[in-house]
Amino acid sequence: MTTQTSPLFGEALGTPVTTLLKPLIGAHMSTAGGHHNGILGGKAIGCETVQIFTASPRQWRAPTISSEISEVFKKTLAESGITKTVAHDSYLINLAAEPGSEVLAKSRTAFRAEIERAEAFGVNFLVSHPGAHGGAGEDVGIARLIESLDFIHAETPGAKVRTALETTAGQGTYLGGRFEQLARIIGGVKEPERLAVCLDTCHIFAAGYDIRTPETYAETMRLFDEIIGLKWLQVLHANDSLKAFGSHADRHAHIGEGEIGLEAFRLLVNDPRLAGLPIIVETPESETMHEVNVRRLRDLLV
Ligand SMILES: [Zn+2]
Repeated sequence: MTTQTSPLFGEALGTPVTTLLKPLIGAHMSTAGGHHNGILGGKAIGCETVQIFTASPRQWRAPTISSEISEVFKKTLAESGITKTVAHDSYLINLAAEPGSEVLAKSRTAFRAEIERAEAFGVNFLVSHPGAHGGAGEDVGIARLIESLDFIHAETPGAKVRTALETTAGQGTYLGGRFEQLARIIGGVKEPERLAVCLDTCHIFAAGYDIRTPETYAETMRLFDEIIGLKWLQVLHANDSLKAFGSHADRHAHIGEGEIGLEAFRLLVNDPRLAGLPIIVETPESETMHEVNVRRLRDLLV
């Protein structure tokens, strides 16, 4: 029976068995010159997954995506062999802003457009910062965010893209610095299946979840599973941290060159629970260093 190998185990496809248990390693890529350039640029530096902005992240105005643009993107993606893509939403959006405020109205309109663009491109996940309560308090902020998400979900029925709420450093009044907050948001919306979680290593470290040793990594993942549930973890951001553990400061560093260190990333990329999930590098000096950081992560695979 040596010639009969189940495709499940990969050998029939010429893929070593072990690669099936690995995450997909990639980076946040520039879309200068066209959205599809994010795919081409990622492919050129060895990405297996790519994250992009579908519009400028620091402007409210965003272009609608023509069918021509989305077709070029989808064709480029299909030819690239990249199977999972991620979009990141605008930095201006705050879905937990005060009801009746201009910023909340603009945020809801902009986020709906984020979902519509992600759908047009066939992107799998839309990473979104959970927003800030602005002094109203955590409970009020979470309630506002849930209301916004329900409103936007109702306006975009049938959308396949899942919004991946990103863990944050818990700076200022930003939500997302505690796993409990993300669990409450997922538990509070009417359509939780439209949500997921994006774990950013720099942010959770700055928020006070240690991952520097096998013991602390295991404990943080245990907490994530207990409080949120690992099935919700669908995207990871791999960034080292310029700032100290528990500093609540969000400053990304190159892989292995910050306060977190290489060991955490070795544990991360080899964690079988993360097999098949996109792991995205979002470090500075992207034009020269993304390729280096992606290779560093891949070199940690055993
Ligand atoms: Zn991130």
